[in-house]
Amino acid sequence: MRPPDGQVYRFDPGALCLELLATGGPGDFARFETLHEPSDLVAWAGGSRLGPCLELAVTEAELASVRRLRDALFLFTADQAHGRPRDPRHLAAINAAAAEPPLVARIAPDGTRAWAPGGTGAGLLSTVARDAVDLFTGPYAPRVRECASLNCFLLFVDTSRPGRRRWCAMERCGNRAKARTHRATRTAPKGQAAPKS
Ligand SMILES: [Zn+2]
Repeated sequence: MRPPDGQVYRFDPGALCLELLATGGPGDFARFETLHEPSDLVAWAGGSRLGPCLELAVTEAELASVRRLRDALFLFTADQAHGRPRDPRHLAAINAAAAEPPLVARIAPDGTRAWAPGGTGAGLLSTVARDAVDLFTGPYAPRVRECASLNCFLLFVDTSRPGRRRWCAMERCGNRAKARTHRATRTAPKGQAAPKS
């Protein structure tokens, strides 16, 4: 992540579909948009957990579809993280995308995962939507959370064994919260607890 107000840091949201949410979003989040051109989506896919070996051809129309799915998925995920009811429009958007043919995975001669040639933006759209179906119907669905920092809206799934992940990244929001708690403890009068960070 490259925040305007700080150092570059690594954010792993724990699932492919949640990786897409960090590329922008609906409403106010449009100012964080990183998918302006089809090549931006190709670059995102190459840096995602799909891996750098994915060959992808993306059209403008496919890019627009991916952005629409992302915005629906963003709102859907935020609702899930906060225990709000599911919006049927978001469900419909995810399910429609998942119904299309996905990217075709295969095993490379060296045993690693590779992708069949001819990958398209439409295939990528479906693969991301299917990942969302798996995530939100799977065992980690209750572990989808928003970063606990007050002004950070990054969404992630906590796949750690203890299940106590609170921050987008310890090196960003986690450390800031620790520093705040530390300051509050030092300045708080005796017997008064530090405020929740
Ligand atoms: Zn955060």
